Amino acid sequence: MSPLNACGRAFFALALGLHRWASCTMVTNDTGIAAGKTFDYIIAGAGLSGLTVGNKLSGKGYSVLIIEAGPDASWNPEVFDAEGRMFGSKTCNWQYPAYGDDGKLLPWKIDSGACIGGSTSINGMVWYRPTKAELDKIETLGNPGWNWDNLEPYMVAAERNIPPDATQIAQGAGSSPDVHGHNGFINTSFPTPLRIPGAVDLYKEALPLVFPGLAVGGDLSNRTSVSSASTMYTIWYDTVTGKNRRSSAADGYLWAPNQQRAKLTVLATHVVDKVLFGQGITATGVSFLPANGSTPSSKTFKAYAAKGVILSAGSLASAPVLERSGVGKPSVLKSAGITRLVDLPGVGANVNDQPGTAAYALVSAAYQNDTSIIDNRSLFAPEISLINIDELWPLTAGSFILDIASQKGLRSRAQALVDAGAAVNIFGAGAVLNASIDLITTHRRKLALSIFHLHGGYKATYLILLAVPIVEFLAESGSSTLYAAFWPLVPLSRGHVHINSSNPLDHPIIVPRLLEDPFDAAVAVAAARASRAVFASAPFEDIVANAYYDPPIGPNGTDAEYLAWYRKSMFGASHWVGATTMMPRHLGGVVDHQLR
Ligand SMILES: Cc1cc2nc3c(=O)[nH]c(=O)nc-3n(C[C@H](O)[C@H](O)[C@H](O)COP(=O)(O)OP(=O)(O)OC[C@H]3O[C@@H](n4cnc5c(N)ncnc54)[C@H](O)[C@@H]3O)c2cc1C
Repeated sequence: MSPLNACGRAFFALALGLHRWASCTMVTNDTGIAAGKTFDYIIAGAGLSGLTVGNKLSGKGYSVLIIEAGPDASWNPEVFDAEGRMFGSKTCNWQYPAYGDDGKLLPWKIDSGACIGGSTSINGMVWYRPTKAELDKIETLGNPGWNWDNLEPYMVAAERNIPPDATQIAQGAGSSPDVHGHNGFINTSFPTPLRIPGAVDLYKEALPLVFPGLAVGGDLSNRTSVSSASTMYTIWYDTVTGKNRRSSAADGYLWAPNQQRAKLTVLATHVVDKVLFGQGITATGVSFLPANGSTPSSKTFKAYAAKGVILSAGSLASAPVLERSGVGKPSVLKSAGITRLVDLPGVGANVNDQPGTAAYALVSAAYQNDTSIIDNRSLFAPEISLINIDELWPLTAGSFILDIASQKGLRSRAQALVDAGAAVNIFGAGAVLNASIDLITTHRRKLALSIFHLHGGYKATYLILLAVPIVEFLAESGSSTLYAAFWPLVPLSRGHVHINSSNPLDHPIIVPRLLEDPFDAAVAVAAARASRAVFASAPFEDIVANAYYDPPIGPNGTDAEYLAWYRKSMFGASHWVGATTMMPRHLGGVVDHQLR
């Protein structure tokens, strides 16, 4: 039975009398399934967005073609086994090169999913909700309707939460049913068994000592009262194999037996080259080619869309498709020899990821074989903390706020982004920066709400966390070490991605410009210092032999030393956004609030 053909599986199921699989989704490598054909919708990229939209549209009866550059890797344990993927694996991974402003290659590669399921086939599977403030902020950038109230129902619809069992609860896991969906397609749960419960206990004790005010709780999706918790993932525990399995977008929306669609076709191992345009710059289809081709022009095919073309090739690949189609910044199109159809200079700008690194403490010999401390399992980050500005700098947050909130500072930051090609104009750069700065500074206070019930004399105090975090702090164990990985969550730095040639098989030129903004650098250094303080704190006294093991920068290390190490060791945290920004055009936006 071909691993590629869901229909083949369905016919097999039919032979066994399982009639509900009769309307099956076609997944194939066969160019002929799409070449010269017309569908209602054509979608570029079978990742998180493409599969979700393809599932919904075909479920409404539209014929949909999704073209995916990578293969079907559902058979591969690195993809389906939640603990099967090794760090730095090349399976289902574009491993895009990254460049500095000077055009030189950076020493790290960019992970990004390159198979059906996209990045959800290789990602860290961490699941928790954003804050209301963050989602509401999207609306203020000229995007009516994009707010918490409208988006929350989709979060509910997507999720099928599996609550923790008694053992997991005893070890610190918890689930608040009202912040989860329960009947959706993506399974979310704690791993079975939980990882390093002994170390996680210590982390839960130590973290609030270093970040005063941090609220350790059971469920990190509960963003109004919890800011540190054991990690929930997009996984489910398979009692037959005894393994935690990845609940990717493909698992939930493509492979699931009850999600088969006669009207959905997925063409794998084919790259979308261009969007084809008809009169009035209306998208009429796409050109595409086999992913392993070396001479694209001789092997390009076309497919046609009666109702629309949807680009969902990810933050780093959708903008290049637009540019190859003649939509983008004139200078980029010109140097790639592409005829310009639409002057849209925001294409490829405003690219943003979080700059991450990790610091290690050596575990003392007596605990090296204690699997409650070091387990050598690969489900990343068993305890996650979301640190706000007052917790990161309990005494000096005010001075940082004064600095980033000043109008003069905003202007020079915005100008720096324009000068670096990361923003189209100072107004757009200012709007984007201002949105982030407002989240960091205005939404920083915790609000204690007291409710006094007059007649019964009952009084309760609720702590409502309004603070938007600025650092994600992941507590882990490694080989012979405990370690923390961390990154600024709301970076002000921005980069860009553009094509280098008209060849769709060439990688784009990605210039991340991580840590270029001094505020990001200050946050990064403070997070790094705090990580050392965690391992030097009293709860770890017996367990840690050397809190300053790697990097070997001692307690008196200078900010300059920490920053130099951070820059040398950092990588993108794989949470790329931007490049086809949803914002009004005069601010440098690429699509409007209806994603057109
Ligand atoms: C290593 C890693 C760890 C992560 N960890 C987490 C985490 O723990 N929690 C979390 O919430 N998020 C995490 N993320 C981020 C999350 O997975 C992404 O934000 C999300 O998958 C993005 O969805 P997307 O549809 O935009 O892109 P993707 O899911 O990446 O899908 C894009 C698809 O388009 C395809 N494609 C690209 N170019 C073309 C082309 N020209 N033609 C046809 N197809 C093309 C790609 O092969 C890919 O399949 C992680 C990401 C990575 C890479």
